[in-house]
Amino acid sequence: MAVRSLYRYVRHRIRHIPSEGVQYLGICTRDGRGQDSDPQREETAAQDWMLKHAGMTGHQFFLRMVVTDYAQVFRD
Ligand SMILES: [Zn+2]
Repeated sequence: MAVRSLYRYVRHRIRHIPSEGVQYLGICTRDGRGQDSDPQREETAAQDWMLKHAGMTGHQFFLRMVVTDYAQVFRD
């Protein structure tokens, strides 16, 4: 019997890269268009956008999110 396929499983892991930080995002929940702060490196920048947006529109509810971290995949 001939071998038709050979699978090789290599274990990988993924981890956060602390030196790269995270990104923050504020999203207005009252806008059907999904207005948001764009990803920001500083939490205060996302929050400043929310404050300005609330001031301009009267919208008061937001999702405040850590949206991205930087990850590294490596083999064991
Ligand atoms: Zn809004």
